Amino acid sequence: MTLSNSSELIGTDRLEKQLETNGHKTVSDQEMRNSIRTLLTELGEDPDREGLRDTPKRVSKAWQFLTSGYNQSLEELLNGAIFNENSHEMVLVRDITLFSTCEHHMLPIIGHAHVAYIPNGKVIGLSKIARICEMFARRLQVQERLTGQIADALQEVLKPQGVAVVIEATHMCMVMRGVQKPGSWTTTSAMRGVFVDDARTRQEFMGLIRHSPQFH
Ligand SMILES: [Zn+2]
Repeated sequence: MTLSNSSELIGTDRLEKQLETNGHKTVSDQEMRNSIRTLLTELGEDPDREGLRDTPKRVSKAWQFLTSGYNQSLEELLNGAIFNENSHEMVLVRDITLFSTCEHHMLPIIGHAHVAYIPNGKVIGLSKIARICEMFARRLQVQERLTGQIADALQEVLKPQGVAVVIEATHMCMVMRGVQKPGSWTTTSAMRGVFVDDARTRQEFMGLIRHSPQFH
């Protein structure tokens, strides 16, 4: 059993760099800026006042970063970091910080993912698990699909005995607007293989993610 906390696995610098080299170029930057300028005007603002003058540029850049997962593929992300290993013990990376965006309101989804798998001859670099989560999170999402995509990606690249993914997240569209329920959390899970077939394995996983690690 390998248990890893994700905090050292995610580097914002790396993601910033990724944006520079692999930025979302399918929509013209100027068009995006124009739309944001229109939005500001429609909101009753003056897009030419000092504080807002560079806002379309900043918002455009921010959105390109927040959706940079559209430009990534599993293959280039993994970059060969899959190794043959005769291990059959559960590997769990828990508390992977997630920032995603809900596709219904384009507002943030903030939460954590816990990802486990049981190898079947192949293991993956631990940081790559966090990167797979980021790749799917940096798209417009619903939490259910995000959870399933992470599970299916691991299933596809490792052909493991099983995969389990649990995401706990709070949705700003429920907190800042609509029902305005701060503190509400949504939990979703996606189980594959042995985590579906074997209740004991599933329970072991659920038990491991229930408690905070002591080194926090
Ligand atoms: Zn929403």
